[in-house]
Amino acid sequence: MFGIAWTSPNTLLGLFAGAFGLAMGARMRWQPRARALVFARMRWPAPGALTLGNVVLHTGESLDVACHTYAHRAGWAVEPCVSLVDHERAHVYQYMALGPLFLPLYLLCGGVSVRNRFERAADRYASHGRGWWPFAPSRERRRWRTLGAAPGDAEHDRPARP
Ligand SMILES: [Zn+2]
Repeated sequence: MFGIAWTSPNTLLGLFAGAFGLAMGARMRWQPRARALVFARMRWPAPGALTLGNVVLHTGESLDVACHTYAHRAGWAVEPCVSLVDHERAHVYQYMALGPLFLPLYLLCGGVSVRNRFERAADRYASHGRGWWPFAPSRERRRWRTLGAAPGDAEHDRPARP
């Protein structure tokens, strides 16, 4: 599949980090639902998951856990929890679509932050099963456009600032 080849430089980075993790006691398995090779029990200071191409590295035992959305954690909205594995699968799709462009664009959009459209798209996908593409117009903006109104300036629609 083209996406897997296109994002293989990222996957390679993930495999290097994963191999390092294995030496430190991490466990590895292919997880179809993540579309990724998953390294669990990674040891690094910040708990959580990191996707690199078709590799997911995380500090927990399993990706099959519920987690809060970024918007919920930031206090922007009260949203139901999503499944971490679905959130990370959205990142895998983003990686397969953007290949080597993913990391620069992700960082330009704000890195690990609620303001990052990549993260909000991953939460959207994990909540509704669609919408992983980070540059899709938000439903709100589309509605305003149909109404002929100017796009709103809701806090969550602002692009990330440095
Ligand atoms: Zn994420």
